[in-house]
Amino acid sequence: MHGSLKLIRGGDVVSSSGITRADLLVEGEKIKALGTPGSLEGADETIDAAGTFVMPGLIDPHLHLNSPFMGTVTVHDYARGSAAAAFGGVTTIIDFSTQPKDGSILENMAQKETEAKDSYLDWSVSGILLDAGPRTLEELPRLVAAGYPTYKCFTTYKHSGRLIDDEGMLTLLEATADNGGMLMVHCENDTIIERRLRMEIGAGHFAPIYHARSRPASAEVVAIRRVIDLMREVPATVYIVHVSAADSMALIEEARAEGLPIHCETCTHYLALTEAKLEGPQGQLYICSPPLRAQKDVDGLWRAVASGGIEIVSSDDAGVSPQDNYRIGEGRFDKVPSGLSGIESRLAILYSEGVAKQRIDLPKLVELAAQNPARLFGMYPQKGILAPGSDADILVYDPSVEWTMTAKELHMNTDFCAFDGWKIKGRVRSVLSRGSFVIRDGRLVGKPGAGKRVFRRLSH
Ligand code: MN
Ligand code: MN
Repeated sequence: MHGSLKLIRGGDVVSSSGITRADLLVEGEKIKALGTPGSLEGADETIDAAGTFVMPGLIDPHLHLNSPFMGTVTVHDYARGSAAAAFGGVTTIIDFSTQPKDGSILENMAQKETEAKDSYLDWSVSGILLDAGPRTLEELPRLVAAGYPTYKCFTTYKHSGRLIDDEGMLTLLEATADNGGMLMVHCENDTIIERRLRMEIGAGHFAPIYHARSRPASAEVVAIRRVIDLMREVPATVYIVHVSAADSMALIEEARAEGLPIHCETCTHYLALTEAKLEGPQGQLYICSPPLRAQKDVDGLWRAVASGGIEIVSSDDAGVSPQDNYRIGEGRFDKVPSGLSGIESRLAILYSEGVAKQRIDLPKLVELAAQNPARLFGMYPQKGILAPGSDADILVYDPSVEWTMTAKELHMNTDFCAFDGWKIKGRVRSVLSRGSFVIRDGRLVGKPGAGKRVFRRLSH
């Protein structure tokens, strides 16, 4: 059976290796061909892309939809979250699902498959493991075999039962090595944080900035060092989520030089904001874990992004409503449900702060936000590249538009925007998911429920 043929004509097509003016022929859900301008014929519909960048649809491998957290729930469900993501150039999202204490991670996935029924975009899920017990170990190979080969654990949050200790970490590394999965780790040393929390709270320090003071960069560095030490015992594939401190990168690079299979990401907000935001008028709304850091960290993370040390930039979209933030937080940093909403703003910040300011080039942006997520999370070359046979997940970006980011201009389910007032260069014009428009000329035309689960299998 043949699908209809669409020709995307005259754009500058971006891959991780360069930019070429080319036409792109889409047949049904797949890319059929790329050719020099004017060389491809027979389309039922032609889309003029002159003056735009045509890129693989972005992939966001770290976000939290419908996630219960500290007495509330994150603002995005699959419908609102995936629609907002599409406005930000995204075509595939990977959500998280938290194992219930002593419960089944496989049951979580079944629950997510129900929640995802109204997704505009293709989707998958990574598990969050709370233990390394017999049931978890029995389920892990089945999780991997079911197309969910990535799962996360924490080195902190002992108080809420989420900390995995050294024994648990070694057990999960062994299971990961055996099953061909990838263990994602949230790295912050719990003991350092708990000690500092006691000190700050004991001193009556409740303002938002003390959230950052109680979770210093050193806590991240210590936790990453420990994971690397344990990887020397059991060298399974590890992915350090949300690296926030520049000092963490030297450790990660050293471990790689030894041959350890360690990968890492940072998130949009660590590349654009500093802890100074915590001292501003809406400081409490900028509380996230790990916290925003110093300018030297922002600069160091950009260098690591440019050099390839950091392989992926994700959103870690996990915001709750500002109303809930203030209500539950009660003016105390330690009670605030931490997390920022950024499912839509990632591309705008990466382009404006990265490409337009010449910290990275556009092929690097494609690598960080599309190709590497596809590769590391087991979706390549189905996703993450514009090549014959790949899914026709296509982002058309108009670099000539300039606009000011505000909550109103965005489509996220919140009236707080962490980048409020930022001048943005370029804007998403159109987004196609498997050959169908989700965003067309800036308007949402996709359908809730059109998204499909992506069966993921790791090849690294
Ligand atoms: Mn985390
Ligand atoms: Mn997260």
